[in-house]
Amino acid sequence: MSETLTDTTHDAALRSWVPSANDESTDFPIQNLPFGIFRRAGDEARVGVAIGDQILDVAACLVAGLFEDAGEEAAKLARGSSLNSLMHRGRGPASTLRRAASSLLREGTENGTKAAAIEARILVPMSEAVVLLPAKIGDFTDFYSSIFHAERVGRMFRPDNPLLPNYKYVPIAYHGRSSTIEVSGTDFRRPIGQRRPPNAPPEELPTFEPSHALDYEAEFGFFVGAGNRTGEAVPLDRAEDYIFGMCLLNDWSARDIQAWEYQPLGPFLAKSFASTISPWVVTMDALAPFRVGAYQRPDGDPQPLPYLYSEANERNGGLDITMEIAILSESMREQGMEPYVLSRSRFREFYWSIFQMLTHHTSNGCRLIPGDLIGTGTVSSSGADEMGSILEKTKRGAEPLTLPSGQVRSFVDDGDEIILRGYCEREGYRRIGFGECRARVLPARFLS
Ligand code: MN
Repeated sequence: MSETLTDTTHDAALRSWVPSANDESTDFPIQNLPFGIFRRAGDEARVGVAIGDQILDVAACLVAGLFEDAGEEAAKLARGSSLNSLMHRGRGPASTLRRAASSLLREGTENGTKAAAIEARILVPMSEAVVLLPAKIGDFTDFYSSIFHAERVGRMFRPDNPLLPNYKYVPIAYHGRSSTIEVSGTDFRRPIGQRRPPNAPPEELPTFEPSHALDYEAEFGFFVGAGNRTGEAVPLDRAEDYIFGMCLLNDWSARDIQAWEYQPLGPFLAKSFASTISPWVVTMDALAPFRVGAYQRPDGDPQPLPYLYSEANERNGGLDITMEIAILSESMREQGMEPYVLSRSRFREFYWSIFQMLTHHTSNGCRLIPGDLIGTGTVSSSGADEMGSILEKTKRGAEPLTLPSGQVRSFVDDGDEIILRGYCEREGYRRIGFGECRARVLPARFLS
């Protein structure tokens, strides 16, 4: 793993000529500069960089001749309608393009002044744009790397044996579906499936009906940049070179369908009906100031096997990101209420780092392809209330929660919108965020 150092793009004193980027509360100050795909009405999808409440149109900057040398070459990889070509080349061109965007958007520099003069040609207000999926996602794998989530959930399904003996050795994952990954703002229908209550008497048959136990899983996702070749594992100290950046991910889960179907091969239809991601991909460069040591395993836990252990990962394999989960019910929406924060949790306490996840994924020779999406697993952490799923919060419905509207929830209801937010804060650095990942549950619809 290359030691990640901060550079001038992270300088907390940098200001942009885009006024909203200097707002204390924005997720997208000039120190962030995440990539995404957007479209204006009647226009083609294109690559953009989020800055305050605006989008920098990369193709328009290219046409206007604002990029030079390596920046221009990198921008040429970002002319399509997905980030895949940019991802394909690994982190180098994306780093170069981010640095070029930083230079163009700075206040009081020659480049910045030139760009600001043609602001109307190169900036699109987010309010006038539709955001799209950032990449053509080939494969989607979802890990289970929070030991706090695994323990709490394991206890509900197997009270005597919450954590299976493999957990502290193998980063556990399942293969999901990329076909039903949608961008934030896309509503979806409650899934219908087979369910059979765990304590049902032997004569009771399973039923086929809308899920009674719809849940969110608040996660981060990371996109594969350059891929590896089949048969060539990625060593842990090089894993970082294969990760393009991160987004928010809601791995929607139907707990009743899951409980009945998961043995012995794991999740299937309980999760493949919908997954939602945030539109802006925060690069590993932008996250550099927020790297921390990997999670310190408690005394008595085994060391990872050698292929999953390195000094560099111990030193800076962790990421200090806060996840925030909020709910907005139909009734709250009608009354004009604000979303209600259900939980906050901390990614820095993950048992396995994203680098260990990537290395483990390729360790058998499995090929990862640019644009593949890898989920981290539900972000739950050590604090009593730091839970990334409603399953944990309500103890599988046994302790329902009350919303500010007076409504009671054991699981997610029709009309509820779940909103994920993520942000990084550190003394001496500018706060950066991930924007939002939101989606609303519509009533189930039976096949006619
Ligand atoms: Mn998940």
